[in-house]
This record gives sequence, C-alpha cells and structure tokens, in this order.
Amino acid sequence: MRILVVEDEQKVANALREGLEGEQYDVIVERTGEEAFFRTTTEQFDVILLDLGLPGRDGLEILRALRDRGTKTPVLVLTARDALQDRVTGLDAGADDYMIKPFAFAELVARIRALVRRGRSAETSRLAIGDLDMNVVTRKVTRGGRAVDLTVREFELLEYLLRHQGHVVSDR
Ligand code: CA
Repeated sequence: MRILVVEDEQKVANALREGLEGEQYDVIVERTGEEAFFRTTTEQFDVILLDLGLPGRDGLEILRALRDRGTKTPVLVLTARDALQDRVTGLDAGADDYMIKPFAFAELVARIRALVRRGRSAETSRLAIGDLDMNVVTRKVTRGGRAVDLTVREFELLEYLLRHQGHVVSDR
C-alpha cells in the first residue's frame, strides 16, 4: 500500500510519515505541488494526502490537474483552513475526502482505509472500453451515456471480453 503525502510543513510531514509507516504503509513525501504532480505522472499510489496550502501551485490546482489528466487515485485533502467554502471547492475539484488540521491520527488512518476500500470496489465493479461502460454490480451497461439492454448471456459475454481486453479469447 503506497501513500503520497504532499505537505510542505516538515513537522507535519514527518509525523505523517512516521505514523503511516507504523501502519505498514509505504510513504513518499513531497513538499511542493509541482514535485507531487510530477511524482504522480511516473508512479502509482493507493491514496494521496494533499495539503491545500502549498508553496507555488497550491493543493487545489494540483488536484484539478490530476483529475483533468484522468488520475482516479483517491485524494484526501488536508487543510488548516476551516471554511465551508474550502471544503466545497476541494470536493468540487475532485477530492474524495477532507480533514481539517489538527486531526486525530487514528481518524486519518480510518479514513484512508475507507478510501482504499472504496477505490478497490469502484475499480472492480466498473469495466469500460471507449464510450462503453459496464457496472458489474448494478448490471447496467451504457454506450455514450445511453442505456444498453442485454440478455443475461450477452451481459456475461461482454463482461468476459471486457475483462480480457487486449487478449485473444477462445469460445472453448
Ligand atoms: Ca501547508
């Protein structure tokens, strides 16, 4: 389990690193938004903890840039700014959860676990190719946003093909 911590305050960053490593997470810390953004272009993370107040490009800009690029990694925003507007803006920009500093470490860990679980189930319940989208939990299929009616057998065949994208499959 890998976590990217984006935090410019050394003390907070160190505390997060120690605490999360104690919970058996691999922790990478970046101090600026630019470095964090670059890091996410080359590496995969299970969760990103993102401080909003950063030097240079702030956390919200980084978050928007990540989502514009299609990165779906769960992002938990950390901020000292206890304002409803910040919370709304953060969630609008694509944050999955939100914590206001100072927070209890145990709560942070619980929220991280929830995000990882949610991320996993979203990942495995949805299959897609091009504009075709399949939710294997609700058994709904859409193409270009329009519902497609399939028989049970058609659904199963399509699911099988989607799960084997890029591979030659046999009917035997
Ligand atoms: Ca900060």
